[in-house]
Amino acid sequence: MKQDIRVRIAPSPTGFFHIGSARTALYNWLFARHHNGKFILRIEDTDATRSSKEMVEVILTSLNWLGLDWDEGPQKGGEYGPYFQSERKEIYREYAEKLIKEEKAYWCFCTEEEIEKERQYYLNKKMDWKHRCREKFTETEKQKRMNAGMKPALRFKVPVEKRISFSDIVHGVVEKNASDIEDFVIIKSDGMPTYNFACVVDDFLMKISHVIRGVEHIANTPKQIMLYEAFNLPIPFFAHLPVILGKDKKKLSKRLGARSVLEYRDEGYLPDALINFLALLGWSPGGDEEIMDRERIIELFTLERINPANAIYDETKLEWLNNHYIINRIDEKTFLTSIEPFVISSGYITEEEYKKNREWVDRVCLLMRPRLKVLKDISRAKYFFTDDFEYDENSLKKYLNDKSVSLTREFMVVLKELKDFNAHNIEDSLRKFCEQKAIKTRELIHPLRVYITGTEAGPGLFETMELIGRARCIKRVLNIIERYEHGTS
Ligand code: GLU
Repeated sequence: MKQDIRVRIAPSPTGFFHIGSARTALYNWLFARHHNGKFILRIEDTDATRSSKEMVEVILTSLNWLGLDWDEGPQKGGEYGPYFQSERKEIYREYAEKLIKEEKAYWCFCTEEEIEKERQYYLNKKMDWKHRCREKFTETEKQKRMNAGMKPALRFKVPVEKRISFSDIVHGVVEKNASDIEDFVIIKSDGMPTYNFACVVDDFLMKISHVIRGVEHIANTPKQIMLYEAFNLPIPFFAHLPVILGKDKKKLSKRLGARSVLEYRDEGYLPDALINFLALLGWSPGGDEEIMDRERIIELFTLERINPANAIYDETKLEWLNNHYIINRIDEKTFLTSIEPFVISSGYITEEEYKKNREWVDRVCLLMRPRLKVLKDISRAKYFFTDDFEYDENSLKKYLNDKSVSLTREFMVVLKELKDFNAHNIEDSLRKFCEQKAIKTRELIHPLRVYITGTEAGPGLFETMELIGRARCIKRVLNIIERYEHGTS
């Protein structure tokens, strides 16, 4: 019988939902969708002090924004809930009892100080040490400690004679001597399960077929396998995803990648572009196909094609992809609705002004569109909205000289006379003017752009001028010339 594919992501709401978590979510989702399986969201919130409702919200919002819909979990429900670990305490208790009954787990009455002292003792002697306090205390001593208010933790009795082995779909065979693993805690003294324990119980009860998660968890897997074996449960398949590093081969910095997914949204990355980018962060379809929509990635995605080598986070590639999606993968209407909040938050125009001048603002946005790496880059269009923008000093130095000043001044007379102030006419008149003067058009275009927009880079000058309007263009040019002649520029 073919196994039902059921995968999950199990984020802890203790920190931001960052790019690594999003990639894990995506790979699980892709795998589920490729196989017509189920994608489950489970919130691992057993650490009450570090978990927060806000962070749960961030997880849900991030997944929703990315379009990674889950089939079971918060907001959705499902047959195998609750999907918050904090609501499953009784279940873990029940499973812990089974292990206690079968003498596969025992209560540990050591204090943290005692454990630390022991660890130091062996460390000083350069001897290997794994915590196992199976026979350490007599029943009387245990009772004494209990009476003194101590709450013991439950530890798993590691079958030290065993060698644990599993075949990771990405990394191949992984082996570990159980004797190298301490008798790890499964229920903490506060009654809450530890990650490894809760994870195994839930992955079993939620019928998870494949555990796909970050490679930082690969060291936990032997512990989890021992637990499956202790319960005599079927063991799922494991696929551990490669680490994501920066271009410098170092851990992702805050600026690059180690950001919350919502920051990408707020900067104006398109979810589809980010999905495309994340898909390639450790996986490739083979060949040189790079730009793929969701359907295509789903179609091509297999765990076997995940590369165990570190994935390199390339910011330039992400920007390039995002620009490509902005230009080619959304229609004009979607583009204009997506950019609206960014125009408003630029502060150059109020919502009201936006509404009043929608057609004009839309034209500005469309003109800027090919140059936007992220939607927030619309902030570079300041000179369309206000005369109060900054001039780039270097550009002024380059293009503010006697010759350019005299040419542009003369050209202003032409512009004043122009019948219709539109891109076509502006261009036409500029070309004629340059021809008459026997100069190259760029000798006029460059200074003109700098005087009118403050910068050498920007969209087509003639369209830009049309949108800024005749009066403002001429005023800006004359202002700059005046500043120059009065020696203030
Ligand atoms: N709560 C763990 C994490 O956020 C889940 C690990 C797993 O997928 O097993 O890293």
